[in-house]
Amino acid sequence: MNSSVMEENILKKVMKHVPMGLVVSREGRKRKVYYINQMAHEMLGYTREEYIQKVEGGWSKFMDLDLKDIIRDYHEKIMAGEPFEVTAPAMKKNGDMRWLLLQVVIRMELEPVSYVTMLDVTDRMEESRRQAREREYLRECASRDSMTRLLNRGTMESLIQRKLERAGDGAYAYITLDIDNFKQINDIYGHWVGDGVILGLSGILSKQFGGGAYVGRMGGDEFAVFLTEANDREAIRRQAQEVLRELRQQKERMGLSEEPSASIGIAFYPEGGTSFQELYHRADEALYQVKKEKKNGVAVYA
Ligand code: GH3
Ligand code: MG
Repeated sequence: MNSSVMEENILKKVMKHVPMGLVVSREGRKRKVYYINQMAHEMLGYTREEYIQKVEGGWSKFMDLDLKDIIRDYHEKIMAGEPFEVTAPAMKKNGDMRWLLLQVVIRMELEPVSYVTMLDVTDRMEESRRQAREREYLRECASRDSMTRLLNRGTMESLIQRKLERAGDGAYAYITLDIDNFKQINDIYGHWVGDGVILGLSGILSKQFGGGAYVGRMGGDEFAVFLTEANDREAIRRQAQEVLRELRQQKERMGLSEEPSASIGIAFYPEGGTSFQELYHRADEALYQVKKEKKNGVAVYA
C-alpha cells in the first residue's frame, strides 16, 4: 500500500471515529453538502439522507439559528477565514432538544464552503445552569433571614449605606421596631407561638411598606424598614401606627390571650443621620423612649 492510500484510509477512519459531527457544505443561496460523517447525523437521530436534506434545506430548519445574525456577528471572522463558535439548540428527529456547539470555518474557495464540527454540549449546559441556579440560591440565602425571608441585617446595612452614599437631597426614613415583652410571649406560650408572632409581624410590615422599601429582620424580635421618597413624615408615622394596630388585631390568630404589641422609633435623613449607623442609633434612641414610657407606640427622633 503506498503512503497516500494509507493516509487516505487513516483519514477515513478519523472522519468516522472522531467524537464530533463533521459537516462540509457549500454555503450561499443553494447549499450543497459535500461531506458529513456518521456522528453528525447520528447525534440527532437522522439517517444520512435525512440529515443532508435538512442541512441543504437550511440550518435553521432544525437548529435555532439565524444565519443572518451569524453573518452579521461574525462578519470579520468569516471574511478572514477564521474559526468562530456558535452554541444553539437543535431538534432531534424524535423531537427532543439538544444543545450543540458548532465550530465553524468558512473558506472562500470558488464559492464559500463551511467546515463545521458539532459537539453535543447539552449535559454541560444543564450542569452550568444548575450551578448558576445554585449560586443564585446561595446568594439569596446569604442576603435573607431564613425564617421570615425578609432582608437580613448585613443586607439591610449594605443596601442602606449604598443608597445614602448617593442620597443628595433625597428624603429617607429609617424605622426600627421591637416586639414588646417578647421573652414573656416565649415563656408563656412557647417558642413556637413566638415564631408565629415574628412571622405575622413580618407579613404586616411587608404589606404595609413593601414595594420600594427595604424591609428587614435585624435579629431576634427587632425589625427595620428603610423608606425612600419619605417626604410625607406624618403619613409615615401613621403607617407605623397602622402596623401596631394590625399587630394588636392578630391576637387570636397568633393564639395569644393578650394583644401583642411593639415599639417603633423613626429617624429621618438627614437630621436624624446621614449614614446607616447614625440613623440606626437615632431610631434606636427614639425606640428606647417608647419602651421606657409605656411601649406600644411610635416616636420620632428629634
Ligand atoms: P422589650 O419589650 O423590652 O423588647 O422586652 P423583650 O422581652 O421583647 O426583650 P428583648 O427584645 O430583648 O427580647 C428578645 C427575645 O426574643 C429574646 C429571645 O429569646 C427571643 N428570640 C430571638 N429570636 C427568636 C426567634 O427566632 N424565635 C423566638 N420565638 N424567639 C426569639
Ligand atoms: Mg423586644
